[in-house]
Amino acid sequence: MNDSTLRIVWIYPDLLSTYGDRGNMLILAHRAAARGIPVETYEVRSDMQMPTSADIYLIGGGEDGPQALAAQRLITDGGLHRAVNQGASVLAICAGYQLFGHSFFAKGTKCAGLGLLDIFSDRGETRAVGELRGDIDPRLGLPPLTGFENHGGRTHLGQHAAPLARVTGGIGNDGQTEGAWAGKVIGTYSHGPALARNPAIADLLLRWSTGADRLAPLDDSWPERLRGERLAAATPA
Ligand code: GLN
Repeated sequence: MNDSTLRIVWIYPDLLSTYGDRGNMLILAHRAAARGIPVETYEVRSDMQMPTSADIYLIGGGEDGPQALAAQRLITDGGLHRAVNQGASVLAICAGYQLFGHSFFAKGTKCAGLGLLDIFSDRGETRAVGELRGDIDPRLGLPPLTGFENHGGRTHLGQHAAPLARVTGGIGNDGQTEGAWAGKVIGTYSHGPALARNPAIADLLLRWSTGADRLAPLDDSWPERLRGERLAAATPA
């Protein structure tokens, strides 16, 4: 490893990794290596100390029990807080997204989150299950979001977090907005895995973490076919 090596951490694969979320790490590593960026990936299980000096942290979705346990361990560990405060980039999916906020509900109990995104989550009357699509915040300059959602929680944003997208199909946070971002932290309800369906978000994370203004284009004809199919499959909101 040298100083230019991009270090990617997959947080707690033993607790949070549903619907192919681990693919987000594979896609980031692939898209970095294809640009000649040296990359190392680390799978940090919940019985391990969280490294504080990685460049990108990824956390996935999961059921209520593992979600509550992951939040407790991350709060006790404190390493993820230090990493984010030092400027690391984050992609947090579903349960991982909810636990980045101030609080969330798991198995009917209100749980403390990490407070690294100005959001909180409660429960909806129905589960949100199915295709999700949305128009991403124009400030991020990205094409529409596509994903698969399956969650009972609903998420509300405070003034220090902006919606990642306006929903055009599915539920997301509340049927109107989907996900949140602040600084270099992105949270979303999109599984799928999210970065296979949204390679532009992978490249945004790579640009944030390397400081590059632009990255060499890749042949994305297969991801584009997938995106076209999945965006067409999402029911308009
Ligand atoms: N347990 C959370 C909920 O149901 C998150 C689910 C998930 O990560 N898919 O809202």
